[in-house]
Amino acid sequence: EEAISKNFIEQIIEEDLKEGKYEKIVTRFPPEPNGYLHIGHAKSILLNYGLAKEYGGDFHFRFDDTNPTKEKTEYVDSIKEDVEWLGADYDQTIYFASDYFDRMYECAEFLIKKGKAYVCDLTPEEIREYRGTLTEPGKNSPYRDRMPEENLELFRAMKNGEFEDGSKVLRAKIDMTSGNMNMRDPILYRIARMEHHNTGDDWCIYPMYDFAHPLEDAFEGVTHSICTLEFEDHRPLYDWVVKECEFLHPPKQIEFAKLYLTNVVTGKRYIKKLVDDGIVDGWDDPRLVTLSALRRRGYTPESIRRFMELVGVAKSHSSVDYAMLEYCIRDDLKLKKPRVSAVLDPIKLVITNYPEDQVEYMEVKNNQENEEMGTRKVPFCRELYIERDDFKIERPKKYFRLYPGNEVRLMNGYFVTCTDYVADEDGNVTEVHCTYDPASRGGNSPDGRKVKGTIHWVAAPFAKKAEVRLYENIVDEEKGVYNEDGSVNLNPNSLKILKDCYVEPSLEEAAPGDSFQFVRQGYFCLDTKDTSEDHMVFNRIVSMKSSYQP
Ligand code: ATP
Ligand code: MG
Ligand code: MG
Repeated sequence: EEAISKNFIEQIIEEDLKEGKYEKIVTRFPPEPNGYLHIGHAKSILLNYGLAKEYGGDFHFRFDDTNPTKEKTEYVDSIKEDVEWLGADYDQTIYFASDYFDRMYECAEFLIKKGKAYVCDLTPEEIREYRGTLTEPGKNSPYRDRMPEENLELFRAMKNGEFEDGSKVLRAKIDMTSGNMNMRDPILYRIARMEHHNTGDDWCIYPMYDFAHPLEDAFEGVTHSICTLEFEDHRPLYDWVVKECEFLHPPKQIEFAKLYLTNVVTGKRYIKKLVDDGIVDGWDDPRLVTLSALRRRGYTPESIRRFMELVGVAKSHSSVDYAMLEYCIRDDLKLKKPRVSAVLDPIKLVITNYPEDQVEYMEVKNNQENEEMGTRKVPFCRELYIERDDFKIERPKKYFRLYPGNEVRLMNGYFVTCTDYVADEDGNVTEVHCTYDPASRGGNSPDGRKVKGTIHWVAAPFAKKAEVRLYENIVDEEKGVYNEDGSVNLNPNSLKILKDCYVEPSLEEAAPGDSFQFVRQGYFCLDTKDTSEDHMVFNRIVSMKSSYQP
């Protein structure tokens, strides 16, 4: 077989290793703890972790917590849970960027002493004005030529809380005429009196992302700092920082395209808004693609890893069909999960020639495609529930299920022939009557006669009541994900709640988080949040039908 071709990042790494640039590679995943992780982050986690594993290197899990405004411990905990769930082994070490505040400060002083950074007193508006535009060069700040001694003294005073918030900044001295706006004397430090979740009120100055990030990588010996494309034009600044701070083994930044999925909402900002507006039931609402939502819905880490392999790594943006993710979970669960019977929209089926007090137990395979999963006993009796949709008074074209006079197979049961039905005064069918052929036990007739329809059922007196939640995409791409005002254009049918479903009695043993194939209906997971002792709630993970072919 032909060798799988390497992606562009693997090619860079292999070249670097061949040239002996690094003895061992170090990658990292650096989330900002300002929200829950989503499927896009999973891509970054699995990519970085996968590369470290592939090349015998190290993978660092680091919280990029240098911006105290939006960061919360709740987010730190959930991110940790998600990274572990995906199986990215970080060797029990979690790095926090805020642990480097002292060293970052030292780097800033180092740059000042070198004449590469200065304290600037311009107001934020003036700084913006002086910066120029894409077509016009910027102007030098009048404070740009302050001597290192003065800058050092002012910077220390900034640190010691002697100036108001926003009254001064530390800037890199690079080039106000650069074609790259990021290189026009970017801000390295700002004054902001904010409580930090890790360092409390130790600091009243905080480093800017573009200064902090390359330093974090360099401090940790990261070799390949893999980020998404929007940072491409920050790379010259990244390189400037690690060069001017004179690291012996500077890391290098490599950009790849973000993962976008059709018909879902990614982007912490948008997800947070849905949560804050109460449109969804928290960050783990099964319609979201946060990792906690996917987990709650019943996605497995294996399915997400498989999905990322299929998607690959690209240098330009594209959107991946959500159906591909569905394909991956279906494929993962197919041979692993029991196939059980659940009736989502029940009507009663009465077998009029079946003895009233009789119960028999059918031996049913747990998974027809995986013998190793064994069998279970399923009760069968005179009164069953079947899907309302499996009976019609008038036969539609090409309909082979129950209608008066027709014979069908009850899956793992008997052949039954519809004899009659009962309807209420509005014409709604309340009961279907049939007779069974005792010789057809197990679903085959001894005379070899065939039936075209097979339907599923549960034994009414033994069935367990359950709530089932069916999901559709939360947005409809064709109508546009976002409205003109920036709000999300929601699909009003994204959640359908069925309260009176019946599941077979074996499901009584199910624990929250367990998943099953409900025959003919798809894969379902017992909800971890809303299931209680006497109330089962199932989330549909995915239907049986696929619109995606690998
Ligand atoms: P969002 O824009 O969705 O809020 P973010 O980029 O602000 O995400 P961070 O916590 O800063 O979130 O990101 C951590 C890492 O995850 C970064 O390296 C970032 O590039 C990566 N990442 C974020 N979104 C995606 C995505 N859609 N596809 C691939 N990687 C992503
Ligand atoms: Mg970010
Ligand atoms: Mg963001």
